[in-house]
Amino acid sequence: MVDRVLVSLDGAVRDADAPLLYADDIGVLRGDGIFETVLVRAGNACAIEFHLGRLRRSAQALDLPEPEIGRWREAVERAAKEWGTDREGVMRLVLTRGRDSELSGVAEKVTSGDLAAAVPVPTAYVLVLPVPDRVQKARTEGVSVVTLSRGISIDLAQAAPWQLLGAKTLSYASNMAALRFAARMGADDAIFTSTENRVLEGPRSSVVIARDKQLITPPAKNGVLPGVTQRALFAEAEKAGWECVYKSLFTADLLTCDSVWMMSSISLAARVNSLDGLRMSAPDNAQEIIDLVDRGIERAGAIGDW
Ligand code: PLP
Repeated sequence: MVDRVLVSLDGAVRDADAPLLYADDIGVLRGDGIFETVLVRAGNACAIEFHLGRLRRSAQALDLPEPEIGRWREAVERAAKEWGTDREGVMRLVLTRGRDSELSGVAEKVTSGDLAAAVPVPTAYVLVLPVPDRVQKARTEGVSVVTLSRGISIDLAQAAPWQLLGAKTLSYASNMAALRFAARMGADDAIFTSTENRVLEGPRSSVVIARDKQLITPPAKNGVLPGVTQRALFAEAEKAGWECVYKSLFTADLLTCDSVWMMSSISLAARVNSLDGLRMSAPDNAQEIIDLVDRGIERAGAIGDW
C-alpha cells in the first residue's frame, strides 16, 4: 500500500522519497508561497473546485502568477488515483514563488528585455500523505479547546492587506506555535480571539457555532481564512432549512450557543467538547451537523468566487 504520493504539475508521478526542492526555494527561505490541504476520500479529492478557487485567490493576494487551474486539476486527479480508494489521505497542493537565484536576476532580465525570463518558475506540486491519528478521535469525540489572543484587531485585514490574513500562505509557524501552546495547557486545539474579544478562527480550522436552527461563523473581513469546509456546510445546511449567517461573534457567544465546531478539510466537523476547561455537552442535533458536512464536501460543486 502506498503511503506517500508526489505528483508535479506536469502530471508526472515522482519518487516521494527523492529530494524535490532547491535549497534557495523562496517557499523555504521566506514561507513565500501558498497551499491547500484537501481530503482524499474514496479516490476523490473532496471539494476540489472550492480549493482550486481559493488557491487562485491566494495567488492573487501574493501577486504570484495565475495558477494554471486545468493543470492543477489533472495533477490532483492523478495523485488521488495513485493514492487509491481504500483509505483517506491528506493531499497538499503547494505553490511557491520559485528560486531566489531566478528572482535576483529579474532586474537585469527586465532591462535586457528578456521579459519571459523575468518571472521565476513557480515551484508546484501535489503531495498525499496518510491522515494523522488525531483526526479520527477529533471527528468522533470532539476536541478540547483553549481561547488564545491573536493580539490583532478585527480591522487589521482591511487596514493592512499586506498581512495576507485571508490567504492560505505557507507562513504557518505561528499557527503551529499556538497549537503547541494549547497542548502545553492540556488542550487539543485553540480558538484565536481579537483584541476586541471577538472570535476569529482556529490555527487550522474555521469556527462555526450552532444556535437553534442557525449556523454562525465570523466573516472573512474580520481577518479569518474563508474555509472550504464551512462553505460546503453552509451550502448543504441551507438546503436542509438552516439559516446560515456570517456575523462577528464575542467569546461569550461560544458559551451561550448550543454547540461550537472546528471545521477543517481533514478533521471535518470536530465539536468543541470543552472550552477553557469548561465541559460542553453534545446537543441532540450533533450528528445532523456532522452529516451535513460530510454531504457538503462530497457535493461542493463549481469553482465559484472566493
Ligand atoms: N482557518 C485556518 C487558519 C486554516 O488553516 C484552515 C485550514 O487549514 C481553515 C481555517 C479551514 O479551512 P478549510 O475548511 O478550507 O480546511
